[in-house]
Amino acid sequence: MAGNDPALGRQTKNDESQVIREAARRRTFAVISHPDAGKSTLTEALALHAQVISEAGAVHGKGGRKGVVSDWLEMEKARGISITSAALQFAYGDTVINLLDTPGHSDFSEDTYRVLAAVDCAVMLLDAAKGLEPQTLKLFDVCRHRNIPVITFVNKWDRPGRGALELCDEISERISLRPMPLTWPVGEAGAFKGVLDRTDGGFIGFTRNAAGASRATIQTMTADEAAESVGEEWEQAGEESELLSISGADMDYDEFLDAKATPVLFGSAVLNFGVKHLLDLLVELAPRPTPRPDVDGGARSLEAPFSAFVFKVQTGMDRAHRDQVAFARVCSGRFDRGMVVTHAASGRPFATKYAQQVFGQQRSTLDVAYPGDVIGLVNASNLRVGDTLYAGKPKVTFPGLPSFAPRHFATVAAKDPGRAKQFRRGVEQLEQEGVVQVLRSDRRGEATPIFAAVGPMQFEVATDRLQNEFGVTILLNHLPYTVVRRLGDPNERKLIDGHSSEVLTRGDGAELALFTDDITLRLLLRKHPDVKLESLAGGV
Ligand code: GDP
Repeated sequence: MAGNDPALGRQTKNDESQVIREAARRRTFAVISHPDAGKSTLTEALALHAQVISEAGAVHGKGGRKGVVSDWLEMEKARGISITSAALQFAYGDTVINLLDTPGHSDFSEDTYRVLAAVDCAVMLLDAAKGLEPQTLKLFDVCRHRNIPVITFVNKWDRPGRGALELCDEISERISLRPMPLTWPVGEAGAFKGVLDRTDGGFIGFTRNAAGASRATIQTMTADEAAESVGEEWEQAGEESELLSISGADMDYDEFLDAKATPVLFGSAVLNFGVKHLLDLLVELAPRPTPRPDVDGGARSLEAPFSAFVFKVQTGMDRAHRDQVAFARVCSGRFDRGMVVTHAASGRPFATKYAQQVFGQQRSTLDVAYPGDVIGLVNASNLRVGDTLYAGKPKVTFPGLPSFAPRHFATVAAKDPGRAKQFRRGVEQLEQEGVVQVLRSDRRGEATPIFAAVGPMQFEVATDRLQNEFGVTILLNHLPYTVVRRLGDPNERKLIDGHSSEVLTRGDGAELALFTDDITLRLLLRKHPDVKLESLAGGV
């Protein structure tokens, strides 16, 4: 570690240029998709092409497919799914790829959204037969809000599905993202022969191996060769591709970076078709880490001493230790395991000597991390989601992570009034960690706050933790609210508080107006057209 004193975070010019070089090799992204679109299959296929360096607590449930570090929560074990998210790191040629997991099954929750605060790019994975599905739309909303560039991969083209033009139309019409197909399918979904590579006009075809084999053999041909051996479907794909060019669907890099347009690939994760192309695109197009803005409006340059922010905190079920792992994305500088950093919120030192344990057998490769990488810090009981860690000087604090529009609401109270103190402490803790959002109002009183969540599983996690860590059994009473708006002027509260709507204050001070349904909201707006209500987009 010549020239770099980990304890002080001091860096020499040499270290700085190394950090810049290393950051430029990083691509940090997440897959946004609806359950069953093929995220786990794609993740595996991507890793197959690359050399897996480390897996930070990544758990892909379902039949023990991965199950690397799965003993986090009892519930997780029981259900065989991942409740919390982590990262998979792999090398592809000279590029280091960090794939952050976005839990997306019944465990869909605020954690899923938060992961998107730590990526530079997203891959939107669509099932060719289904197109845009609800969870994809919700996640896309967050990407849009954060201006995250999106690459689209239309999956399952090996089986019957919708038309390619129809899918592209859906993308542009429903989410106003201009599709820029880089490949175009030759043969309809189900009768798929390969793709026309719109960048060079060639054909990338495949033949299935022995029946049932899950990998296809890929071969490339020039346009002339394809015209001869493929025939009619090739001609049709060529015509459609020309139409696309005329209608302005060609690649525009700046629009991609501005999150206004999306490159589109067609493929089949299960056949491993189009997956290498996707990796190549990530290398070529996906933005590399850039300086992250801090709370003062400046930006921490990449070569500044180490800094990172926590985007995920995971609590183990080992009650004796209350072990907590914080996952942080490196924003600047070089991280050396063992370095002592400063926790910006408390100003206290934080020792990172345990950073290794999360990574299991590959620990030696994670002694060092650079901007774009994810580090897992164990014994991190003082770290909260959104916290900043930094080394050296000057101090830096990154903006906290946003809360997201909750969709589920429930009143909560301690079953045993004698445990009110523990209940209060527990709720406070969960609120701080962002396990659930906590809403309160004078009308309801301190003893019965309201839990609000993006996904219902957040309630289960909260219930479980209050029981196990604070010894408090709670009574949850689900509320029928389905529509939420942010109230601009607190004086208008009295217009809303009623039978089918009420206003509550969230921990961050936001006033949230809850309505049982759209009709109630519309009636209110008809009666009081000037009331200031904002929709809650991806991050609020
Ligand atoms: P996830 O829920 O998004 O992680 O989806 P999975 O990766 O578990 O895939 C869901 C199902 O779709 C599984 O049965 C996969 O084998 C299947 N699947 C995934 N990719 C493809 C594909 O490209 N073609 C076909 N035919 N099936 C696929």
